[in-house]
Amino acid sequence: MLKLNGLRLLHYKNSQNAATVDMPVPKIVRIPMAQHMVAPCAPVVKPGDEVLAGQLIGDSEQAFSVPVHSSVSGKVKAVEEAVGPAGGLVRRVVIETDAEQRWIEGRPRTVTSQRELVEAAREAGLAGLGGAGFPTHIKLNYKDVDRVDALVINAAECEPYITSDYREMMENPDGILRGIQTVMRCLDIPRAFIGVEDNKPEAIALLNQKAAGTNIRVEPLKSIYPQGAEKVIIYNTTGRIVEEGEIPADKGVLVLNVTTVANLDRFLQTGLPLTHKRVTVDGSLVKKPMNIRAPIGTMISDLLAFAGVETDGVRKALMGGPMMGTALDTLETPLIKNNNAILVLGEEEARPPRTTACIRCGRCIDVCPMNLRPADLERAYDLRDTERLAALKVNLCINCGSCTYVCPAKRNLAQKHQLAKGLLKRK
Ligand code: SF4
Ligand code: SF4
Repeated sequence: MLKLNGLRLLHYKNSQNAATVDMPVPKIVRIPMAQHMVAPCAPVVKPGDEVLAGQLIGDSEQAFSVPVHSSVSGKVKAVEEAVGPAGGLVRRVVIETDAEQRWIEGRPRTVTSQRELVEAAREAGLAGLGGAGFPTHIKLNYKDVDRVDALVINAAECEPYITSDYREMMENPDGILRGIQTVMRCLDIPRAFIGVEDNKPEAIALLNQKAAGTNIRVEPLKSIYPQGAEKVIIYNTTGRIVEEGEIPADKGVLVLNVTTVANLDRFLQTGLPLTHKRVTVDGSLVKKPMNIRAPIGTMISDLLAFAGVETDGVRKALMGGPMMGTALDTLETPLIKNNNAILVLGEEEARPPRTTACIRCGRCIDVCPMNLRPADLERAYDLRDTERLAALKVNLCINCGSCTYVCPAKRNLAQKHQLAKGLLKRK
């Protein structure tokens, strides 16, 4: 059972009125072959090859893989291996860009069936752009089309600071609506809900205006964290509860992120796959918070230089928001598809808090949207007690970070739960 309460966080949406700025093509991009969950791609280009922007450079025959395209035109300099933000080694295609930014010839598409939609989503290189990175074509390819009768568009963007989806809504509402209608038509879904937190009244008004007379309803949601978690937004838009072990389709729901659906439409209109990504750049060291659209594979150091950030003072950089973002161990990390923000923090915010003993206050339990017992999970992990971890259902943890945030003892609960899930997987 889901709880309806959540965390009320300060929003810090400093960049919400910052219209998207296009970053010029950098000298070098390093495009990872694993930018989505599950199966990584293998490069289909080699050093010395000339490539065009939009050209396929990585692919795999595995069902759960998502093809990778070049974001620039230029020459492949190397195929290298490097540690990715999540740990593990990732292959990257390094491309030295030319000054011309020459593109493949895009072929716009019309899709009318589930099969065509699934093929288009894969060809577009789409993987959940809200942060999850789950291959979009797999999500769309559910068996038995009659099973799903509601499409939920996740436009909550509940993490502080991030305004990347918000800018998509303000700058491309027609594309979003068109993308939603395409999905509804191909999958025969009669109704759609766009879930938007009520701290975005202008986006709600704009989408309402565009959706008038359609079967698409804009659903203003309370600005509580983690409103954008899949099970939470399904409950708050449709009233349906996705139980443990179920997927949304079991409850007749398909969930897509708002920027994902917009990029699906972009592909259908232009025939050009996903090559660029909008990211919010903010944090205490950023004088002018921005939304920047940059080629995928751009190094974060180049992105920050474009945003006017003096990187000497950076003590911590997060890929993503303050609640669920990944701390980067180097700014020489490339931008990837499901990255929606870079937050850069100085000395004071980056200093780790002093951790003290658990005082059994129960706040972590009260705040957990999945009704877990975070303190007990931490203890079980510390003891490497995999049976207890399974019994306490650690795999239900969505890594929202709420327990860590409220803990007066400043314990790294969410981080331990992630490690615990890895431990169970390896068992
Ligand atoms: S990180 Fe996991 S355990 Fe902690 S509040 Fe979120 S869902 Fe619950
Ligand atoms: S919030 Fe922190 S101190 Fe309180 S019970 Fe949970 S782990 Fe212990």
